[in-house]
Amino acid sequence: MPKVAVLPGDGIGQEIVPQAIRVLRGVLAGASLQLEFKEYPVGGAAIDAVGRALPEETLTACREADAVFLGAVGGPKWDTLPAPERPETAALLGLRKALGLYANIRPVRMLPALVDASTLKREVVQNTDLVVLRELTGGLYFGEKGRKDNPPAAYDLMLYTEGEVERIVRLGFETARLRRKKLCSVDKANVLETSRFWREVTLRVAADYPEVELTHMYVDNAAMQLVRYPEQFDVLVTENMFGDILTDLASMLSGSIGMMASASLNGKKGLYEPAHGSAPDIAGKNLANPLATILSGALMLRYSFAREKEALAIEEAVGKVLDAGYRTGDLAQAGDKVLGTKEMGDAVLAALGG
Ligand code: NAD
Repeated sequence: MPKVAVLPGDGIGQEIVPQAIRVLRGVLAGASLQLEFKEYPVGGAAIDAVGRALPEETLTACREADAVFLGAVGGPKWDTLPAPERPETAALLGLRKALGLYANIRPVRMLPALVDASTLKREVVQNTDLVVLRELTGGLYFGEKGRKDNPPAAYDLMLYTEGEVERIVRLGFETARLRRKKLCSVDKANVLETSRFWREVTLRVAADYPEVELTHMYVDNAAMQLVRYPEQFDVLVTENMFGDILTDLASMLSGSIGMMASASLNGKKGLYEPAHGSAPDIAGKNLANPLATILSGALMLRYSFAREKEALAIEEAVGKVLDAGYRTGDLAQAGDKVLGTKEMGDAVLAALGG
């Protein structure tokens, strides 16, 4: 039976992950695919239990599993630890590196029921349906870093190999091929050599995908275009830091960060998690929105287990619950029926059946 390593982590992670697992069990009831879900400690919870944010037992389980399902890590209690020991660095970057998760995928789709929850105007966001692909294990965040004296200075090296660019760009073309066949490669080729190199590799890979329309856009323009006219985009592909910034910006196009699911892949192996953090301000109060985590479960079925039908069933159930006017507090407006974390899980489960 395929294995899923379940890492609830800290804060609201402990509340939202169980709801997503219930929904996954629900959608797979009676299906030919059955998954074994087993929990492991990670983040601040693991520091408290065994002294390390990414214990050896957890890392081994993640390496051996077919997929990893994560809640969130971090919180004020561990903020004073030295950077390499902190949950976010040790656990998140540690897992990405150890599992070689080079591709981060974040779908951004405006569900009709949430159009008025966005901070942007209805006519701007209502037709948003795009995917951002971010390179996750290269570039500035992983390049050589250092300090110099006389005068005091600091540097971070941005370096991309041809192979690193090719594999993420290829995934971009593959993703676009299954959607509206438009790929926008985002770079800063007017200034950066790594971006000019990125473009060369992209143009070479494009020859294998004549059915996909390729465009290039500078990252500053892409940020502006995403809030001006997001429906022009189908799939965007970009390097690590540009993607970090653009995905947070894009999360607001779907109403709330509490709706944004995320998959980090190395082939079929993937780590699935909501895009938000551990929300210590609302943790333990049954207030957190579990939908981004539930939608991350749909991504897991799609990308690690090739179960498109069941993935769509989860996405449709979430749509139905929102259409019926149910909301967690982060999305609620006057007239909505406000639910707690567990009750939102119940509602999605019920909608799966209906
Ligand atoms: P956050 O995403 O945890 O919270 C930002 C705001 O959004 C808060 O007001 C929070 O209540 C709200 N929010 C977030 N998720 C929500 C949900 N599902 N439902 C309702 N409201 C939600 O970001 P932060 O406050 O900057 O960080 C808190 C902790 O999480 C920090 O320790 C940070 O390092 C960590 N963090 C972890 C991850 C991760 O595990 N992937 C990502 C980002 C931040």
